[in-house]
Amino acid sequence: MMLDTSTLRVGLAVVTLTLLCLFYFITYRRTRSPFSGWWCSALLFFLTGSASYLLDGTEHQAWANPLGNTLLVGGAVAMWAGARSLRNGSSPLWTLLAAPSLTGVVAVLDHPATNNWSGGAVLLGMMGLMLGLSSRELFLLDVDYSRVHRPLAYGSAFLALFYAGRLTAFLIDGPEGPVFVAYFGSVVTTLLTSMILVLASFTMAELSNEQLTRDLRARATVDGLTGLLNRTAFVDLAENELRRLSGARTTAALVLADLDHFKAVNDQYGHAAGDEALQAFAAACTSAVRSTDLVGRYGGEEFILLLPGLTPERAGQMAAVISRRLQEAQPNVAARLPTVSYGIASTGPGRVDLQALIASADAALYRAKTLGRDRSVLATSLREEQTA
Ligand code: GH3
Ligand code: MG
Ligand code: MG
Repeated sequence: MMLDTSTLRVGLAVVTLTLLCLFYFITYRRTRSPFSGWWCSALLFFLTGSASYLLDGTEHQAWANPLGNTLLVGGAVAMWAGARSLRNGSSPLWTLLAAPSLTGVVAVLDHPATNNWSGGAVLLGMMGLMLGLSSRELFLLDVDYSRVHRPLAYGSAFLALFYAGRLTAFLIDGPEGPVFVAYFGSVVTTLLTSMILVLASFTMAELSNEQLTRDLRARATVDGLTGLLNRTAFVDLAENELRRLSGARTTAALVLADLDHFKAVNDQYGHAAGDEALQAFAAACTSAVRSTDLVGRYGGEEFILLLPGLTPERAGQMAAVISRRLQEAQPNVAARLPTVSYGIASTGPGRVDLQALIASADAALYRAKTLGRDRSVLATSLREEQTA
């Protein structure tokens, strides 16, 4: 059965338009991710590109044919930019414009009024190239980045190979040759494209959802102002870590830090200065701790650190380093940064309850405050604290 190309193209246009609407209203408007924006643009380019070819055979062919080529390559470029955005790669404007412009110019010079395949070789080559590059970007992502980007990478690699095949057949056989028409012609391409667009849209929607879930999860565990763990996340992670450490018979130090006379910073220099001091303290902590330590914002201007393997004395030294780094920081809004008081507790041998450890550090912190602030105080051993 010979399928009529124009009918197929109208079908493809309807499918693409439907996908575009669904994707725009359901996925893009909800996630607003650069990546789903690029996929919307890609669909729009494919839609308008294939619609341009509907003018083949009319008086408009002279401009519509090169325009169609340009738009299709534009769609492939948008796919590539979208794939790049997943790795946080930005795409300079010239890299986006180069391939479509070249394709358009070559087509214009190739008798587009009478030649249905004006600039055909460049069109096929560019499509193959951009699809291949998109596939490469997707393969460069970590395997466990998502459940769906690998299939997508294989899909676009397959399509890139298909375009390489089309180009070869086109160059050897010409657009009217039997091999090209049977395997690589408009009918096969249109059917394959509709299939791939549906699959890709579905996959992209899934990818966007995964991205969204990941963002939400990150936002639920991270304190918005300082970027440290929030209280809930810290407690979760610290409980796990303490369980692991007691199994390994390793001790840990727990530090509670409270900025001194912080209310005065807010009162004197304003809330923005207070926020700045909190961020500066968080930065000082992050720069001082090791990658295995946990740092969280416990609430307001109170911070909490779990330092596996450190004795209370070593933890006290780390506190001193943090305070020094804080004083070295150059504030923009406040005239000076506050000093800090620390309470330090240490896990004894055996299992330790996080809440008991925090209570112990809190008592030590209270003592640091009453002793005149800007210092760290070690808690008396946890066992004494509990039996007292
Ligand atoms: P002390 O030395 O005894 O700890 O005195 P302090 O002033 O630091 O303690 P207090 O608990 O009286 O004041 C804490 C202040 O921290 C009160 C609150 O307005 C402020 N604060 C809490 N969270 C934030 C925040 O996110 N940003 C800013 N700018 N201020 C905050
Ligand atoms: Mg406080
Ligand atoms: Mg305070």
